[in-house]
Amino acid sequence: MKQNLFEFDAAGLTAWFAGMDEKPFRARQVLRWLHQFGERDFERMTDVARHLRACLAERAEARLPRVLRDAAAADGTRKWLLDVGEGNGVESVFIPEAHRGTLCISTQAGCALDCAFCSTGKQGFNRNLTAGEIIGQLWVAKQALDDFRGPSRPAEADGVSARVISNVVLMGMGEPLANFEHVLTALRLMLDDNAYGLSRRRVTVSTSGIVPAIDRLRDACPVALAVSLHAPSDALRDQLMPINRKYPLAELMAACRRYLEKSPRDFITFEYVMLDGVNDSEAQARDLIRLVRDVPCKFNLIPFNPFPATAFRRSSAQRVRRFADILMQAHIITTTRKARGEDIDAACGQLAGQVRDRTQRQQRAPHSRHHAIAIAETLS
Ligand code: SAH
Ligand code: SF4
Repeated sequence: MKQNLFEFDAAGLTAWFAGMDEKPFRARQVLRWLHQFGERDFERMTDVARHLRACLAERAEARLPRVLRDAAAADGTRKWLLDVGEGNGVESVFIPEAHRGTLCISTQAGCALDCAFCSTGKQGFNRNLTAGEIIGQLWVAKQALDDFRGPSRPAEADGVSARVISNVVLMGMGEPLANFEHVLTALRLMLDDNAYGLSRRRVTVSTSGIVPAIDRLRDACPVALAVSLHAPSDALRDQLMPINRKYPLAELMAACRRYLEKSPRDFITFEYVMLDGVNDSEAQARDLIRLVRDVPCKFNLIPFNPFPATAFRRSSAQRVRRFADILMQAHIITTTRKARGEDIDAACGQLAGQVRDRTQRQQRAPHSRHHAIAIAETLS
């Protein structure tokens, strides 16, 4: 079988080339063609020696997931559904804003962590994406948005501000830190000046809080970190996010503090999905302030995005505002995420793709509205 070159970062490609007695600079050339210029045809890699082009054609390929659907929302948000084989599809979303363009990408087909409020989680889990499938989402979006530099397009015209995709967030389907090695390879490509050349501050990993993997990320490749918090107490977080039973809040807060020693940003972003009557009271806002008092942070409140068969409801705008006010009075910078691309189901937690569930989760009983309220009541 041919080697798919999209599975390699610079070190991997250099090692593979060394196995063919090719020098590291050859690997750099090919890396640039693939990831900087968006060229997949070895014959068109004009500065690569002819014998090497022939050799690559024989032994290698530059294979990407196929685009099954490409949807554009009224607000400019774009969503791609990519075929990753065996009936699995994953989604990526581009969100244009005035001063930046953010691509949100997926890291797994489904997710095994089963958070109560998440549509990806409810679909179950099939498998980790490969590094090529993760970085392939960035490649596909760049091509669709005409964001590759091209060897003939001068570098000067390509400052960061001129890029369409200036930021990448690993906040799509799946838990990035449960697919560590492949995510790491993809992150290295995103940051590599011979590939996508993004700044560490503009690449964000979002995690539900896998503590040992937060430490590994800190040591291997620190980028901006977002942590899905969603509850001020272990009792409630245990119910909403089963991972909390393994890594409770005190351990998570300690991992955040350790991360900040090496983070390119001097704060952690805490994501907090606003669930009506479950985690959105004034008392809970005050508990949160106590919980994070030793962790420099910002809060990003996410109004819950409903999906079929969910029992949760979105907090009212007034309750969200009140919650944000309390955090801000404690000098915690708090933003409320605007729902984008709702007409194409592209908002947070709505990415569903297609998952051939191997965990039979969909056959288990869904949380009822009654159950959601019961959770809130037993804890208040
Ligand atoms: N697994 C990672 C990254 C993917 S989820 C994580 O959990 O952080 C990206 C964000 O969307 C997380 O903060 C997640 O909690 C949030 N989210 C999940 N379901 C949601 C929903 N239905 N409405 C709003 N946000 C949701
Ligand atoms: Fe997985 Fe994140 Fe969804 Fe939880 S919120 S089920 S960790 S994708």
